[in-house]
Amino acid sequence: MKFLIVGAGFSGAVIARELAKNNHQITIIDQRSHLAGNCYTKRDENTQIMEHVYGPHIFHTSNETVWEYINGFGEFMPYINRVKTTYNGEVYSLPINLHTINQFYKKSLNPTQAKAWIQSIAATDIEEPQNFEEQALKFIGKDLYSAFFKGYTKKQWGCDPTSLPASILKRLPVRFDYNDNYFAHKYQGIPKDGYTSIIESIVDHENIEIQLGCGFETEMKSQFDHVIWTGKLDEWFHYQEGHLSYRTLDFMKSEAVGDFQGTAVMNYGDEDVPYTRISEHKHFMPWENHEKTIYFKEYSRACGENDIPYYPIRLVDDKEVLKKYIELAKVQNQVTFAGRLATYRYMDMDVTIREALDLAKSLLEDINNQQKIASFYHQETL
Ligand code: UDP
Repeated sequence: MKFLIVGAGFSGAVIARELAKNNHQITIIDQRSHLAGNCYTKRDENTQIMEHVYGPHIFHTSNETVWEYINGFGEFMPYINRVKTTYNGEVYSLPINLHTINQFYKKSLNPTQAKAWIQSIAATDIEEPQNFEEQALKFIGKDLYSAFFKGYTKKQWGCDPTSLPASILKRLPVRFDYNDNYFAHKYQGIPKDGYTSIIESIVDHENIEIQLGCGFETEMKSQFDHVIWTGKLDEWFHYQEGHLSYRTLDFMKSEAVGDFQGTAVMNYGDEDVPYTRISEHKHFMPWENHEKTIYFKEYSRACGENDIPYYPIRLVDDKEVLKKYIELAKVQNQVTFAGRLATYRYMDMDVTIREALDLAKSLLEDINNQQKIASFYHQETL
């Protein structure tokens, strides 16, 4: 069959590869002039430092299949994400761990004492946290929440933490030891030659043709048997039911000599510091030596129609709109919706790859059984 895949990020690339392996003919188009979507990396011209152009990406997973799959397309270097945060002129360790707790409260508690201490200050009356703030108050109490999460989250999401889902905070652990690894997954790393080179290898197949700088036009549909859409769900339907809201990011880039902040990621918890974090990209590749440095101040704001969508907000209003689009998507013919933008979810790279592999498998099964190819696979989207 002839497939048109719209979008050359991880979803599009992985689905393309799996279908191409099974002798289908694939054309991938992307409106941008490069592969890899928001994972795109390139060498900075002046310093030759590998730049994560749309913000830092650290690969982490506990899924053996995904880890094995991705390692088949390039070399991953071991990398442990250790994040620091500045609040009120002092630097602390994240995710909240024994060091953070002891430093913040000027104590020297051991793990058992720290657990008891946090329990004594956490909100015990909240049984089932209904939002981000309640989740935080239940787990760490008001002081730590106000220092490290309240201001940051307001800046990041542009709304009060009481209107955000508890699930956003559940991404981060609270630890009662000195482990400052940001992620709790079994495997973690960064590709030696950047993410673009990984995606290039994934799509390097005789049955895959790529057209960059090429947006989707409705007329294209007639030249293919099926379309895989990895763009925004609402865009496919020309926003007929309204807009799904996103946050976009602006990166202010600077260059300097030496080491700017001594670490890859420094968050800023204070609400009056306008950026959420500063990332210094040479620290993402400690296996290289660079005299110069580049660093990026990251600002979050509401995403307009022509901005790059990063984080789906998923507030109550969005979910109402989303429901309508899902109903429309389910009855579409000759199109399947895949990935972060087309399913309107906050997805890490490993989940994106796992779903793309599962989706390709289902597509192939539908084709083999001569069934209509399903348009919308991920029922848990809402
Ligand atoms: N967060 C925070 N302070 C921090 C780091 C994270 O309040 O210093 C909150 C914020 O709301 C963020 C969420 O925790 O959106 C999840 O953090 P994560 O690091 O997973 O965010 P991402 O890397 O996806 O931006």
